[in-house]
Amino acid sequence: MALIVHKYGGTSVGTPEKIKDIAQKLKTLKAQGNELVVIVSAMGHTTDELIDLMNKVADSPDHREYDMLISTGEQVSASLMAMALIDIGCPAVSLTGGQAGVVTEDIYKKARIKHIHLDRLKSELKAGKVVIITGFQGIDSKGDIITIGRGGSDTSAVAIAAALKADVCDIYTDVDGVYTTDPRICKTAKKLKYVSYEEMLELASLGAQVLHPRSVECASIYNMVIHLRSSTKDIEGTYIMSPQRIAKEVGKMEKKQAVRGIALDENVAKIGVLKVPDKPGIAAKIFGALATESINVDMIVQSIHSAGALADMAFTVERADLKKAVEVANIVANEVKAEEVVSDADVCKVSLVGIGMVSQPGTAARMFETLSKEKINIQMIATSEIKISCVIKKEQGKRVVQLLHDAFDLDKVS
Ligand code: ADP
Ligand code: ASP
Ligand code: MG
Repeated sequence: MALIVHKYGGTSVGTPEKIKDIAQKLKTLKAQGNELVVIVSAMGHTTDELIDLMNKVADSPDHREYDMLISTGEQVSASLMAMALIDIGCPAVSLTGGQAGVVTEDIYKKARIKHIHLDRLKSELKAGKVVIITGFQGIDSKGDIITIGRGGSDTSAVAIAAALKADVCDIYTDVDGVYTTDPRICKTAKKLKYVSYEEMLELASLGAQVLHPRSVECASIYNMVIHLRSSTKDIEGTYIMSPQRIAKEVGKMEKKQAVRGIALDENVAKIGVLKVPDKPGIAAKIFGALATESINVDMIVQSIHSAGALADMAFTVERADLKKAVEVANIVANEVKAEEVVSDADVCKVSLVGIGMVSQPGTAARMFETLSKEKINIQMIATSEIKISCVIKKEQGKRVVQLLHDAFDLDKVS
């Protein structure tokens, strides 16, 4: 007997037929004597539809009510899954995040999970039921329903698996593994058998939507293996785990490949604060004001004007935060006597990721050369030991992913 934790994403539970198919599979696993905990996302595009609805009734929707609304999508799929199981003679119960003991910070819309009280979950398992839990949500200290950020059901699943001390968290989705890049963008993308936490965290944070970044962070803290796999094909997917474990499986001590994957983030926008006085404290003012409004800033570039003590400052934010970020930047620009604030939503970010980059020079040069040959203008560049990101025009993003995939021979990796 094993304790099994599964997570099913939106497409995987997108229709009643798909829910019934999954229920059959769960019933078989249960009949084999396993204990089952299943985390589900909202069906199909339900969450997006709820957000559209919200925008039709309010210009700036209240954050508490946002969470009340968009947490309902997961309740629909969890209860349907439990009903489908009960209907085929398999005892089951659906629980909301709060009922399952998932306690979050007191922050609406993107709270972190603080801890999970397992009493209810364990008593339902003991009673012989398959426990279906709504992903993406928990409860705060006031008892309010809180959501944990778009795509967050992956994180719910890993956190619950870790709290239950499961060996592995199976994440079922609409692709059969993690690929060298999004297989919907690049036909030659290759499926990877193993990806380390570090590389997966970078890929996910840089826009590869296949896993919620915080699920990878949580998995690495608890050393939880994530098996990302197809909800329709019964084949092995990709194992996300520690480099030590991967080395053991693969039997190689050093990786020779610099670039492991490419991520495309089309959800970014660029803001420039032009001709700001080049003196101490200005960056602190601008980015302090953005932080106060809970706006995450990503790439930051400062360049010096040749004439006088002036500088230009450019940075990227999530596209959804652009309007608010421009408002905040304008207020600070006025205060510090900057010339103007400009913004551009017509951009995207392409990133190369790989632990091997640290020890292999020339990756950045090859990336820039590839773009230059195609006359693609790079607007911003950011690097770390294991990634290089470029901001370019949005319409060029997908083509650049393909060009870089070819240039770095990613179709030949395993
Ligand atoms: P779910 O609803 O199951 O959570 P998501 O839509 O959030 O699924 O994530 C799966 C999608 O992630 C895939 O359909 C694919 O288009 C996209 N994706 C982006 N980058 C990658 C990658 N490197 N490997 C696999 N899929 C990727
Ligand atoms: N339903 C939520 C979303 O669409 C959470 C998830 O699917 O992971 O963001
Ligand atoms: Mg997802």
